[in-house]
Amino acid sequence: MKRPKRGQRENWYQRCHVSRRTKLYFLGRKMSRKKLRTRLATVVITGWGNEKDMSDVFCPKCGCEATRYSGNMASYPELWEYGRCARCGHLVEMADNSPWIHALECKENGYEIVI
Ligand SMILES: [Zn+2]
Repeated sequence: MKRPKRGQRENWYQRCHVSRRTKLYFLGRKMSRKKLRTRLATVVITGWGNEKDMSDVFCPKCGCEATRYSGNMASYPELWEYGRCARCGHLVEMADNSPWIHALECKENGYEIVI
């Protein structure tokens, strides 16, 4: 393996990953457990399906609001798409030929989406 020259840092980390600062900028600081529990208790979900109205949308496991979407994994007109939390990877949203389901609606399953 070629050793990097003096003053020239081996920067595979910067190439493959985002820096800690960038990550912090996108995701913010992690919410404390106590804050998260309080926030979970204040979520109000009214209606169902496409008429659904949620007072707050975030990952029930870590409080993060950023979600990565898979894109449609089935061919049209089938719909199978999911969204995972950008921080912890928890499945937060799911649509399987159905209106979107959010993990916050699955309180009785410990915020796990079960189909
Ligand atoms: Zn999360």
